[in-house]
Amino acid sequence: MRALSSLLFVGLLAGSVAPASAQATAQTDSLAIRKIYDEALLRGQSYDNLRYLCQKIGGRLAGSPQAALAVEWGKLTMEKAGCFDKVYLQECLVPHWVRGAKEKGQIIGNKGKSISVAVCALGNSVSTPNNKPLRAGVVEVKSLAELKALPDAAVKGKFIFFNRPFNDALIEPGAAYGAAGDQRRSGPAEAGRRGAVGALVRSLTAAHDNYPHTGTTSYGDTPTKVPGAALSTLAADQLSQLLAADPALQFELEMSCQMLPDEKSYNVIGEVRGSKYPEQVITVGGHLDSWDLAQGAHDDGTGVVQSMEALRLLKAAGLRPERTVRAVLFMNEENGTRGGEKYADQAQQNHETHLAAIESDGGGFTPAALPWKPRRRYSARWRPGSRCCGPTWPMSCCPAIRAPILSR
Ligand SMILES: [Zn+2]
Repeated sequence: MRALSSLLFVGLLAGSVAPASAQATAQTDSLAIRKIYDEALLRGQSYDNLRYLCQKIGGRLAGSPQAALAVEWGKLTMEKAGCFDKVYLQECLVPHWVRGAKEKGQIIGNKGKSISVAVCALGNSVSTPNNKPLRAGVVEVKSLAELKALPDAAVKGKFIFFNRPFNDALIEPGAAYGAAGDQRRSGPAEAGRRGAVGALVRSLTAAHDNYPHTGTTSYGDTPTKVPGAALSTLAADQLSQLLAADPALQFELEMSCQMLPDEKSYNVIGEVRGSKYPEQVITVGGHLDSWDLAQGAHDDGTGVVQSMEALRLLKAAGLRPERTVRAVLFMNEENGTRGGEKYADQAQQNHETHLAAIESDGGGFTPAALPWKPRRRYSARWRPGSRCCGPTWPMSCCPAIRAPILSR
């Protein structure tokens, strides 16, 4: 499967490449495609690049020193690739959230017996008050609607425990992720609005294990921010079972995360100028930042390395695109999308015509097909003022570009 994802990106860009001549034949096409395959399969650089990004730099949340290293690495790697006419940084301000000390969670029984469980702070969460342990009773719900239906007296002063699991009947994990995601994104905000002291959210994963999954939460305009933590799926099952047996049990949470002032960071952009229509731009990209608790290989190291590799493969095969093609390593997809917004703002200010903007962010698994199916939500491409980037291929689940950049 080596480099197959990069090959798919190259396939997407192929429409921008001029035929060798007006007499280009099917045979010359197939030879050119063979060259691309040979380069990817025999001399592909994606895995080496991915290894460095994940193992030498590691988790790289926006604003962190590791994210700054990733920017340096991305620029240097593109320059070394020797396939870009121009490699440059695009400055943006990003949120700088830090996790603090390792989070602690305990289930406290009515006889004072405590059981430690695996928890982690949700990205952008506030700490527990004064970074001290916060102890309260627990109310389990399966949805935001269920919370809404509860009387105030049942909610005030409690932890709201959002425990709707993944729907394992959905064959596409991304769909299950989307269906369960509102608990994490909005659960802490809604809990705070109702007078709860905090939110505990079942990890958004189909895996039954003891690794809590972080991920972003948003307080919106809620005036009362309460801490939000993820429980591992096993911890969530355990809490649910114990709660059924003892509804008066308590939970104790301790977190010291905080949001620091915005930090300067960058999108990293490599550009090959179009030979015939340089004013028309096609963008392929991935997001350079990742969460801090993992190496961010699938999310989204693979999108990063295959975007760079796609353009290198074109050059190695002796193909020059007719349209300008950019590989963009977006900063801050995970907890802000500031890099994507900056890219979109600049594109609009410069009156650029983007024919397509494609982000791969669904993991680096073996691609099985390339159906072109813009999602309605993201297919705002031809409607000025609407959000996001236009056609996203099904491997892409959460585009870094959430702003209109396409101009026709
Ligand atoms: Zn992602």
